[in-house]
Amino acid sequence: MGTVSLLRLDLSDGLAPGNKSFKLRGNLRDARDRGFNRLLSFGGAWSNHLHALAALGEAEGFETVGIVRGEESPTPSPMLIDARRWGMQLEYLSRQQYRQKSSPDYLASIQKRYGPCLIIPEGGANAAGVKGCAAIASMLPISRLSEPLIVLPVGTGTTLAGLAVSMSSNRRIYGISVLKGAWDLDLQVGAHLEGQGAGQAANWKILHEYHCGGYARVSPELKAFIIDFERVHQVALDPVYTGKALFAVHQRLKSGQWRGEITAIHTGGLQGRRGYSWL
Ligand SMILES: *Cc1c(COP(=O)(O)O)cnc(C)c1O
Repeated sequence: MGTVSLLRLDLSDGLAPGNKSFKLRGNLRDARDRGFNRLLSFGGAWSNHLHALAALGEAEGFETVGIVRGEESPTPSPMLIDARRWGMQLEYLSRQQYRQKSSPDYLASIQKRYGPCLIIPEGGANAAGVKGCAAIASMLPISRLSEPLIVLPVGTGTTLAGLAVSMSSNRRIYGISVLKGAWDLDLQVGAHLEGQGAGQAANWKILHEYHCGGYARVSPELKAFIIDFERVHQVALDPVYTGKALFAVHQRLKSGQWRGEITAIHTGGLQGRRGYSWL
């Protein structure tokens, strides 16, 4: 038995709801401090990150450039249509070239092409992103007698690191990896924490068994769970991130591995839900 509370980041921040806006607000601050008025980043045709970047960029007076994985399609995704409407300049890269996007040569070439700009890594996975996510911790219910477990979905581990940095060492955070076999996530979170000089971070652990087939894949069980959850609770979930995190909570409560109080973080991602015809 247990009680689950949801922290609804999907209801925050207007056109850029969810955890991406926290990571990006850290980067926007960085860009302002360094005198950049153009922001450039990377993502797929359904990227929550590029979507939030385009929305926040427009709202805050920055020019934005999105480097999109894959060839341009004659029928662009709703995400790309939104991004373009918000003034984001889009450039398409073949999947093969996209894999080289972090190489120094490629970064030098885009820096030359787009002039002075802040280049933000895919997913907002940098130190400014970690710092921005620290603000999520202050939105969690403050300690009562028992400290609830905190659960959230993990892609790059940036959000998890931001939370862990800003919480005391007696808190327990579980990250649900949405990727299959992403064993290096633990190292990435560790590196982010070290980068923030976090000696006293919260206890955290990444669970690797709830990917449901891999990134953006869906198992029949996950599908059934999301449909049921939405009907019962009237809260929309996306199949890539929040669906898997809440599925994990459900499984662990059912098996008795978890009990007591749990706070799950709804990290948003609902714009991407438009890509699933069964929802
Ligand atoms: C990107 C994203 C995540 C993963 O965040 P990381 O900081 O990369 O771990 C989780 N949920 C949603 C909805 C996202 O868009």
